[in-house]
Amino acid sequence: IFFRSVEFLNMKGRTGTNGVAEESPAKKRKVFPALHEKTHAIACCSALRDVKYEIRGPLAQRAEEIENSGQKVLKCNIGNPGAFGFTAPKEITDAIYAHIDQAVPYCHQKGLLEARKAVVEYVDKYITEENGGKFPQFPKVTPNDIYLGNGVSELIMMCMRGLLNPGDEVLIPSPDYPLWTAAVTMHGGRPLYYPCKPENGFVPTIMDIRALVTSRTRAIVVINPNNPAGVIYPKELLQDIVAMAEEYPFGGMVIFADEIYDQITFDGNKMTHMASLCHNTLCCSFGGLSKVYRACGFRVGWLVMSGNRSRAVSYENALNLLSGLRLCANVPGQYAVIPALQDKSIKDLVAPGGRLYEARKVILNSVAKSKYMSIHEPQGAMYAFVEVNLPDFDDQVFALDLVEKKHILIAPGSSFNVPYKNHFRITLLPPPDKLREAFQAIDEVLEEYAQTLEQRKEEALKIVQAMRAGEDKERIEKLRSKAKF
Ligand code: PLP
Repeated sequence: IFFRSVEFLNMKGRTGTNGVAEESPAKKRKVFPALHEKTHAIACCSALRDVKYEIRGPLAQRAEEIENSGQKVLKCNIGNPGAFGFTAPKEITDAIYAHIDQAVPYCHQKGLLEARKAVVEYVDKYITEENGGKFPQFPKVTPNDIYLGNGVSELIMMCMRGLLNPGDEVLIPSPDYPLWTAAVTMHGGRPLYYPCKPENGFVPTIMDIRALVTSRTRAIVVINPNNPAGVIYPKELLQDIVAMAEEYPFGGMVIFADEIYDQITFDGNKMTHMASLCHNTLCCSFGGLSKVYRACGFRVGWLVMSGNRSRAVSYENALNLLSGLRLCANVPGQYAVIPALQDKSIKDLVAPGGRLYEARKVILNSVAKSKYMSIHEPQGAMYAFVEVNLPDFDDQVFALDLVEKKHILIAPGSSFNVPYKNHFRITLLPPPDKLREAFQAIDEVLEEYAQTLEQRKEEALKIVQAMRAGEDKERIEKLRSKAKF
């Protein structure tokens, strides 16, 4: 009421229609100085208050500052292949050059028909080929079942926007790719985490998943191969998840299958596409150009709808509407989809001698040699989720310490919505030699930790807290020099 009356006062002052002298803004400020400032502050939308994406948070900002001061930082926090010298297959860039004039207009809200046809052909052929022509196969889909987006990221947002009402629940793996949590939270939903415990090799149990189901559950997210843990889920677990979703008694439970790393698998490990197991509920499968085709800057992802579509008419109408509201996805990038989906060069990168394979080998060897680290071998994707075995280890403090002292940026494990603080994620993308050096540097910091853990933790904790609280640079600088980073 108070706020409204102040608003009214301001309006009266502004209009001044009945001959009454306008109240000067300066006078108003005198009368309500604090209030004036308060009512004119630009507050962010309350739905964003609990939304985090720490992979690009304060640590990344600090790395940027270090770089701006002229020093190099090895940024291992993001799976950005182009930043480490990976190139996209040439046919992809050629296709964009060749079609740039045709890419000028908006296209259909779901994407270029040719690109959607290419996705249909891909899911039809690729998975059949991978399985030697045997079942399970991706169900038959048509271009009408495909949506192209500005990366999988945009499609994830759209899917949550179209699905959730306040208080709706979505089952999400812990650790997760944090965009999923952010998308659920900012659309009013509640993320409920099913534990993928380190001691179980990050494979969740169906019992733990089922224990979270309530009458408010709307969907389950499965990231396979998994970012950050690198695990590939056994087919039997996926079958159990599908059975749970299909028999859900309170309306449909959607399965969101984030399979953006589907072709990045090591040592002959195979992943099963969720859609090939799902028939009686809606399955939304995601893929894109960013990882397998190393072209994340083009911002192209796709969503394939399959399973029981008759249950999802209203939801699909909502997605169609949301696609139309953003008009269409970036068109030049969509021309890259057609040649990309015929390209198999990723196979060389994940095979022995290939860069991703060798990078992973370096990490596994480095961890094996270390007194302080352990790891579950990543079977797929492009990350290692490393455990640190030191008492009272704090991943955020460590990440800050590492960027300050060694100019290496990694992502603290707790950025991935886990209840523990003794992991970090590092990407497999740097050249193997650089990774070897990076792990030497990491081991040096851990060695130091082992010696002076308590003292250094306190100092770095103060800096992390000041950064989190958004304190001014001067104070943060002071703390930093006191801590002798
Ligand atoms: N899903 C997962 C599991 C990811 O790791 C990423 C990016 O790192 C994305 C989705 C988003 O990818 P895109 O570049 O297509 O938006």
